[in-house]
Amino acid sequence: MARGKPQATSAVPTGLPAAESAEISQLVEELDAMLSRLRLGAIREQLVGAAFSEGVGLLEEAARRQLNLREALAWLCAAEVSSKEQRRLSMALTIARFPFVRTLEGFEFEAQPSIDPGKIRDLATCRWVANGDNVVLLGPPGVGKTHLEVALGREAVARGYTVQFTTAMELLGSLVKGQQQGTLEPRLAQYSKPKLLIIDELGYLPLEPQAGHLFFQLISRRYEQGSVLISSNRPVEEWDEIFGDQVVAAAILDRLMHHSHVVTIRGDSYRLREKRRAGMFRVQAPRASSSAGVGGVPPPTPAEEA
Ligand code: ADP
Ligand code: MG
Repeated sequence: MARGKPQATSAVPTGLPAAESAEISQLVEELDAMLSRLRLGAIREQLVGAAFSEGVGLLEEAARRQLNLREALAWLCAAEVSSKEQRRLSMALTIARFPFVRTLEGFEFEAQPSIDPGKIRDLATCRWVANGDNVVLLGPPGVGKTHLEVALGREAVARGYTVQFTTAMELLGSLVKGQQQGTLEPRLAQYSKPKLLIIDELGYLPLEPQAGHLFFQLISRRYEQGSVLISSNRPVEEWDEIFGDQVVAAAILDRLMHHSHVVTIRGDSYRLREKRRAGMFRVQAPRASSSAGVGGVPPPTPAEEA
């Protein structure tokens, strides 16, 4: 709440006998102190702030609506709950460090027919987060993996889960640095803390040789405790190439995939859609109608005659 503390001197409602005004002023000051102490900012805004402002305060509004005491209290509590929820949401979204704002409402399912909207809506309930399951999003660049990660992450935040968004490069860069500097443990602890860890873009860039072992340590720690939402442009069959080690990749996949939902997106880049429409590229229809299962991602489709 941005409003500063009102000054008591301007508090006295005009038109009242001096003694009564002083009494009200005293009461408002006491209310101010108590509500501040209880951290009931929204209620304070209504009961105290309004008493000092020109606007219509709760008392006037309550009288106008003929609210009884219980109704008025319920109204005030609802304002407080809503204000606290807004603050929590805004703080949690800041902590999550999403790269941009994307929502499920803003996702055009028609543009990506290989995605089953029912599956995504089911994931949006966040039951998988409650259960500590994982979600793996596979698909070529531009098909909406990061969009869906952010949108599902926001759903989890809205449901009260702690969420952190990072990229595979950032995460593994941090763990490698931690190992070199003797600070691996606190870094592993930091990435183990959020109930949902979102790891974007695994497989885009080559990793350091020890990255696989470090990633395995993190995934083991989070196993059945917290959820991982991870996206990759490479099919899981190729993850040993990403990590440069077949055994490590198998161990990572074993834990990651044990309780997991895999969404494989086959289709065209949304980014290039407009350009295609404008005739700069030739269009190929998506090859799969729906998929959800451990599977590979086809290589980007070559242009064909439409
Ligand atoms: P990826 O992570 O798979 O490379 P992105 O999620 O970054 O793809 O998508 C690229 C851009 O296109 C983003 O701005 C994203 O919001 C948008 N986008 C992708 N797919 C869709 C879609 N089906 N509906 C709406 N916007 C989309
Ligand atoms: Mg992306």
